[in-house]
Amino acid sequence: MRAIDKIIWHCAATPEGRDVSVDTIRSWHVDPAPRGRGWSDIGYHYVITLDGVVHEGRPLDRPGAHTQGHNRNSIGLCYVGGVDAQMRPKDTRTPEQRRALYKLTEGLMKRFPGATVHGHNEFAAKACPSFDVQSDWGAYRLTLEIAREEFDEEDEDAPDAGPRPA
Ligand SMILES: [Zn+2]
Repeated sequence: MRAIDKIIWHCAATPEGRDVSVDTIRSWHVDPAPRGRGWSDIGYHYVITLDGVVHEGRPLDRPGAHTQGHNRNSIGLCYVGGVDAQMRPKDTRTPEQRRALYKLTEGLMKRFPGATVHGHNEFAAKACPSFDVQSDWGAYRLTLEIAREEFDEEDEDAPDAGPRPA
């Protein structure tokens, strides 16, 4: 496995509400020019469709093609959507997509400790993924920490179970 230090979020830049499959995105990347980009495989490692299902894209052990200058040591995640009907940038994530994006990112951070989470727009003059990943991910992490603190407090109040029988 290659070294991973970044998890980078993207959008597919497809209109809000339009269901686009991972196979369609793959064809945009793999089909020969001018129809597609003529790449060896889809550029992202994971694609999250409107229903919140996580689809595997390019195998994790291969660098993706999603963030110029940062592909070698990163993982690229993409949610379907990201623009409104007039193709203007918009955070169009469905509740299912948000949940899936957070869970997938958490899982990858456990597998690749020390990896940091970013948006494509931190590395390029692009809107992708159409929101500020640092504040979005930061807010999510905060809710996790609050939940954990509440859990710990409950734990302290729990009656002492005493020594375990041998
Ligand atoms: Zn992007």
